[in-house]
Amino acid sequence: MPPPRTVKHASVKPGRPPSAKNHLELLRRMPKADIHCHLDGSLRPATVLELARERGVKLPGDSVEEITPHVQVAPTCRSLREFLDVFDLIVPLLRDAPALERIAYELCEDCALENIRHVEVRYAPVLNATARFTVDDTIEAVLRGLSRGLKDFGVTSGVILCLFRSHGPQENRRVFSALKRFFKPANGLSKPGVVGMDLAGDEARYPTMEYASFYEEARARGIRTTCHAGETVGTANLQAALALEVHRIGHGTHLMEDARLLKEVVRRNIPLEIGITSNVRTKTVPDLRSHPARRFYDQGVPITLNTDDRGVIGIDLTHEYEAALELGFSVQELMALSLKSVDHLFLPAVDRDRLRKKFTKELESLGSAP
Ligand SMILES: [Zn+2]
Repeated sequence: MPPPRTVKHASVKPGRPPSAKNHLELLRRMPKADIHCHLDGSLRPATVLELARERGVKLPGDSVEEITPHVQVAPTCRSLREFLDVFDLIVPLLRDAPALERIAYELCEDCALENIRHVEVRYAPVLNATARFTVDDTIEAVLRGLSRGLKDFGVTSGVILCLFRSHGPQENRRVFSALKRFFKPANGLSKPGVVGMDLAGDEARYPTMEYASFYEEARARGIRTTCHAGETVGTANLQAALALEVHRIGHGTHLMEDARLLKEVVRRNIPLEIGITSNVRTKTVPDLRSHPARRFYDQGVPITLNTDDRGVIGIDLTHEYEAALELGFSVQELMALSLKSVDHLFLPAVDRDRLRKKFTKELESLGSAP
């Protein structure tokens, strides 16, 4: 569990005594967008258990209580490597259409519970596809789940396909071909579609520049891109991501180490997709208090707050906004950040405008519009 919370610099409604409970309720009800959310990191432990039972897979326990320590990363997690080990148990359960459709649908339900109005969910199809379950099949299953989620819970969404660093060029090419076929940002808010590309996996062993040709082709085709960079090691991958003209950066935690790069990120208005608790759990930062989110903000870096892996970490987006309170953000600033995150969505401008209006109206109804 995170350390006890001391709320600073926060304000709710004038005349209303600020309290941690009020803040939490306000942050939960506030309209939000999650733009860095891994599908396979977002499972409920109960769903992991049911998927395993249905598929005859033996887990290290037979109840939600017993398996939770195996499918959620404990605060004692020592590294990104240890963090990723959890996925070795989860991912093999996600290699058929019913499983992917179900978890995409449940993600929408979980988003609706804390008023996430729009989610951009990402996954690496090479990890889910098999000889009989193709990359295209994975995409269709995820889109089906998200479409049902839109219908039942009103959560709009888009899919970002991840290339995976440890997989060879041939496999990544397969995903990239599917990306080109399914790319449909014009669907906007009315129908979930594939809206962008990411590069995920071990950034220390597989430098971003090895994937430059994919980014160049994406750019030529008008495909929006993001890239996990500067999450675990140094700034070389950040530099590469900027050279490849990404639209957003996944994490970027190490950006503080290079003042020149930081200035460039500010100048180009490239948002960092920050996952505060994720960075604490993977030991990217030694503890919550050391997280650079506030320092980025003070230096004008566009930041967004995201879950990264809500299921594996055992958090939701409200928790991440609450963590930001501890870093010195006020509730007003967090509302402004939430509204600002809409600007960075991989959506047509007209849909971003529509969503911005919706957010503003809801924030006004909460009585604390930024
Ligand atoms: Zn991530």
